Amino acid sequence: MKKTLSAIDRVEKYKREMTDTLVNIVGIKAVSPESGGEGEGKRADFLEGMLKEWGLRPKRYEYLDDNNVKRPSLVVKYGDKNRTVWVMAHTDTVGEGERSMWKTDPFKGIFKGGKVYGRGSQDDGQGIIASMYALRALVEENSPMRYSFGLALVADEEIGSGYGCQKLVKENIFKKGTCS
Ligand SMILES: [Zn+2]
Repeated sequence: MKKTLSAIDRVEKYKREMTDTLVNIVGIKAVSPESGGEGEGKRADFLEGMLKEWGLRPKRYEYLDDNNVKRPSLVVKYGDKNRTVWVMAHTDTVGEGERSMWKTDPFKGIFKGGKVYGRGSQDDGQGIIASMYALRALVEENSPMRYSFGLALVADEEIGSGYGCQKLVKENIFKKGTCS
């Protein structure tokens, strides 16, 4: 008899890859232009590529900010139910702050002692990784679902969300009947 993977085992088998991906994205700088960075473009490209590799079709919403930088958010929906449970994580980070306070390079992810170090590894890297791999588990599980699953990886959360979540709300993405 074919043994099916439990949901926990399924997520457990992603563990190494999740850590590696988190380390990777810390190395893809996504500092807000207001804080002197280049924005989320490169990180969004990378995450979009991953989602596509998993057979999903993320939609990219991109808005030009006051610094003339494109600020991309990614939205992907899975399932065909009327109601959607939304999970949101943000792709931008703040700058490194006082560099001398860092024991490691803030923009080079380091995995040590079971932890990932680097700017944005917690805020909001872990949120990006956890939500993306939860979605991947659902896709692979391919079981009937009561609600659709929506994932929004948004730009510009650290400096007010004007080019991220607020724009998506205006696009009417999170319409009535959905919750997040
Ligand atoms: Zn944050």
